Amino acid sequence: MKFSCVATLISTIVGSSAAFSPSLFDGARTHSSQLNARKPFISGNWKLNPQTKAEAVTLASDIASKITDSTPDVDVALFVPYVFIETAMDASGEKLMIGAEGVCPEINGAFTGAVSTSMLNSVGVKWALAGHSERRVIFGENDEYINGQCLKLIEEGMAVMLCIGESEAEYEQKLAGAVCAVQLKKGLAGISKEDLDRVVIAYEPVWAIGTGKVATPETAQNVHSKCRAILADMYDQEAADAMRILYGGSVSPESVDELMSQTDIDGALVGGASLDSEKFGRIINFQAV
Ligand code: PEP
Repeated sequence: MKFSCVATLISTIVGSSAAFSPSLFDGARTHSSQLNARKPFISGNWKLNPQTKAEAVTLASDIASKITDSTPDVDVALFVPYVFIETAMDASGEKLMIGAEGVCPEINGAFTGAVSTSMLNSVGVKWALAGHSERRVIFGENDEYINGQCLKLIEEGMAVMLCIGESEAEYEQKLAGAVCAVQLKKGLAGISKEDLDRVVIAYEPVWAIGTGKVATPETAQNVHSKCRAILADMYDQEAADAMRILYGGSVSPESVDELMSQTDIDGALVGGASLDSEKFGRIINFQAV
């Protein structure tokens, strides 16, 4: 077990306020106690896929079938298009947590095309993504909007996977840590330490998303440990040690084992490979080296 995991485990046993809320994980496979801090978290992001309900049913049930008794003790979530949420929930038979790819920070009113936290909550959704680079870049969602999403999800009693990460130019200028610091501080503004049990961070360097250019385990570990230090500065060491920080960006069956062996990498957010049940199944069943 990774050292900081042990520290978190001990603090959980003695009554840490940062223990995970089991209620958010009711749909997943093994959540028998709160002694699961920094439990690995493998998640998929379907983006604008698949194209039909029938394909969504097949994909969700095929992925669920990869979770067996020999699967590591891991949380597994799929972030899917709104229209497939209930379909994916039914097809995966509660083996997977089904989340939304985004949410509107407003609760009601004249926001054509938007979906609110209460709408999602009412159909059993507990998780949503915020801050994915495609939403930031293509849809113009800025840090203030993303912070609104995070706050609204927390207020609704739900959980958020906040995505952060630098562009290729920023990476080349060695600004990864600085960019992550800004996105963490702005994204989590107003979220208390007590609510951090419903926050997961996904570090996704933009240059690695959908490009096949996965960050090396060393590069990813380096940024993850910086992110943990930033969180310690924003909150405290206990909160930082309890926070799950996932890596995202071209994760594949070939790269997952080494990534998951890094001290500060607690899981993966997977795009392309989550559309292939064989590949995603292998990622869920990673073998830390
Ligand atoms: C993503 O969409 O968050 C992602 C990491 O995509 P991919 O795995 O395809 O790079």
